[in-house]
Amino acid sequence: MKQLLKELHAQVEALETEMITIRRDLHRHPELSFEEVRTPAMIADFLEGLGLEVRRNVGGRGVVGTLKGGKPGKTIALRADFDALPIHDEKEVEYRSTVPGVMHACGHDGHTAALLGTAKALAKYRDQLPGTIVFIHQFAEELAPGGARPMIEDGCLDGVDVIYGCHLQSTMPFGNVYYREGYIQAAADKFTIKVTGKGGHGAIPHETVDPIIIGSQIALNLQTIASRRVDPLKQLVVSIGAFHAGDAFNVIPESAELTGTVRSYDPQVRDMAEQTLIKIATTVAEANDAVAKVHYERGYDALYNHPEETRIAQQALANVDGVQEVVETPPVMPGEDFSYYTQKVPGSFFFTGAQMQNPSDIYPHHNARFDFDERAMAISAKGFCSIILAYQQKYMSEAEESTRSPAADQYSPASVKDEQFS
Ligand SMILES: [Zn+2]
Ligand SMILES: [Zn+2]
Repeated sequence: MKQLLKELHAQVEALETEMITIRRDLHRHPELSFEEVRTPAMIADFLEGLGLEVRRNVGGRGVVGTLKGGKPGKTIALRADFDALPIHDEKEVEYRSTVPGVMHACGHDGHTAALLGTAKALAKYRDQLPGTIVFIHQFAEELAPGGARPMIEDGCLDGVDVIYGCHLQSTMPFGNVYYREGYIQAAADKFTIKVTGKGGHGAIPHETVDPIIIGSQIALNLQTIASRRVDPLKQLVVSIGAFHAGDAFNVIPESAELTGTVRSYDPQVRDMAEQTLIKIATTVAEANDAVAKVHYERGYDALYNHPEETRIAQQALANVDGVQEVVETPPVMPGEDFSYYTQKVPGSFFFTGAQMQNPSDIYPHHNARFDFDERAMAISAKGFCSIILAYQQKYMSEAEESTRSPAADQYSPASVKDEQFS
């Protein structure tokens, strides 16, 4: 396996220029979530060219390629997303977006190129490869309800034992990779509360029902959800980002509107926050003779990394040439629909540092000048190869052990899985 891994890594390095070419082509031709046509066609053609079994239009616009290795082993899925954002590209580079108002401002072009590079390297060594590798190229990550769920419903995880995915990070140093056991990305929900009272003269308040005062009471009361309703050891954020009401100094307006976000990890905490928020808004309004209408919109579920699968990745990534440090990341707040895959099968999502070398070129994700260090794609691809072989090796040696001694059964992958899902 060691020799195979060495050859795979050398192969990925040899493919670096090709990955950059693919990435720049996708960068010039970005497509919005749920509107992808050219990108999935290119991916499917590329995978077919490698001799993989390819399914197009999975769950809508997704592509799934399957590579069967020549040796027995587990089935490992790798996922990359390929959609772009409604942002106008303001970078001055020759690979800048050619589509006005649409841009790859999150690095999904890089995820796609890195996964295609991984597929090409692995396909070259298929005879020596244990198990099966499933390449999940997902559409529409940026826009809820997202592409992950329809692709899962359409069978992209059928027969899959484990899944890994990776996000390039423009604000994390190049050369580092980041892992985390347990929750790594939050559930991100949005709410709007419209308080309707009765407008009137600012000097005659008793003839009005003032939505500003009632809205303020709601805003303050909502803060007790995080401070008094939830276990202090569990994370919850309830923030109001906008409060709009009125437009004249001597007029009490008819209505007020509050908009905000709820971020959480634990599903029970999330349910409680949603129910309590609705209850507080409606009852505070009712007690003041006003009416509050709440619109609560759920974003993606929080992303959970399974501990055992994360440890395998963490150890495998440490031995990748070009990786300086494997760092435990704190959880981050943006949502990510990779969460739905790890609800179905064990798996882990990691970050690859992809910060630009020149400090004036460093921009966050979803910025009009976003870019990343393209050498990070080879780090991700080599990381995937290492994880695949480490996972196969671990389960092969466990299988051997369990045939030798029945006592080893209690450490079988099945019991590890049960524990993680409980
Ligand atoms: Zn994004
Ligand atoms: Zn992204």
